[in-house]
Amino acid sequence: MERSSATESILPMTSIRSGSGIELTPDVYCYTVQIANVFFIGNPEVSNEWVLVDAGMPHSTNKILKAAENRFGPDHQLKAIILTHGHFDHVGSLIDILEQYNVPVYAHPLEFPYLTGATDYPQPDTSVQGGVVAKISGIFPVKAIDISAHLHELPSDGSVPGMPGWQWIHTPGHSEGHVSLFREQGRVLIAGDAFVTVKQDSLYKVLRQKKAIHGPPVYLTTNWRAAWESVCKLADFEPSIAATGHGKPVRGAALARGLVSLAENFQKEAVPAHGKYVHTK
Ligand SMILES: [Zn+2]
Ligand SMILES: [Zn+2]
Repeated sequence: MERSSATESILPMTSIRSGSGIELTPDVYCYTVQIANVFFIGNPEVSNEWVLVDAGMPHSTNKILKAAENRFGPDHQLKAIILTHGHFDHVGSLIDILEQYNVPVYAHPLEFPYLTGATDYPQPDTSVQGGVVAKISGIFPVKAIDISAHLHELPSDGSVPGMPGWQWIHTPGHSEGHVSLFREQGRVLIAGDAFVTVKQDSLYKVLRQKKAIHGPPVYLTTNWRAAWESVCKLADFEPSIAATGHGKPVRGAALARGLVSLAENFQKEAVPAHGKYVHTK
């Protein structure tokens, strides 16, 4: 299995919320390590079984598992891992976690090449605007990992294994097999990087993050037309609360307004003026 280790040293700062969590609902917990969010699904009042959504930055394993122990108890039972997509900041600790927990990993089949070692990710687009992030993104790891032994397709009926009441929604653009997760009850959305709630140029940098809705991270987004359609699709679900791969959860009017505004002004607000993946018509 491949693993990347160069990441930690190139990230200039750590978010103030590094290693901290926010409860969205009693059974949805957003945990942040460095700049990436992972999600613990399961109500610790009811059961010690839980599902992990995304696997964070490289070298986050101990923090993630410690947080799970704090939340679900020392005998916590991880049942499955669901991936919104396979970028390094969402699968960084996956191999290490799988070495300790032999659980199935579910992802969209279009993301499989990046999870079976078949295809490396496209090189990040370092020509887009985005300050520090765009400049250092050229040395982000893009090598595919190989977790074939654990990998399964998300069920074609839209259900999410281990997460009753949830559905997965194909939201390509940021990556081909990107999915978002939605639950009707409470209208809860986990949007991965389909949109994010932290500004692009401050993604890897800023200490205090203002709540707002922004387009997907620019330097790895390869299909802006699809990314826009995905934002429109998610806006139609009218979520009451949304949490994304980066930034704080957003709810209520700020979310509704922010999502509609992003959908309506996507070209202006989200798509970089130039860049090698910018071919919008
Ligand atoms: Zn991503
Ligand atoms: Zn990300």
